[in-house]
Amino acid sequence: MIQRQCPECDGELVLARHSDNQGSGVEARPSTYLRCSTCGGEFTAEQVRESKRAKQLDGATAQEIS
Ligand SMILES: [Zn+2]
Repeated sequence: MIQRQCPECDGELVLARHSDNQGSGVEARPSTYLRCSTCGGEFTAEQVRESKRAKQLDGATAQEIS
């Protein structure tokens, strides 16, 4: 199972789905997203991935606890 951590607070992210599917709207917003159970932030999988990449660079010298 893939563990996802919040880019903001390292809280646990859970997969959520937008229920307001307005068919006529723009499709820039993905229908699924990751919601942080700690701070309530919403992130796309892409955002989490990119922040993780940045984190790996950032914490290259730090110990990874996971
Ligand atoms: Zn969070």
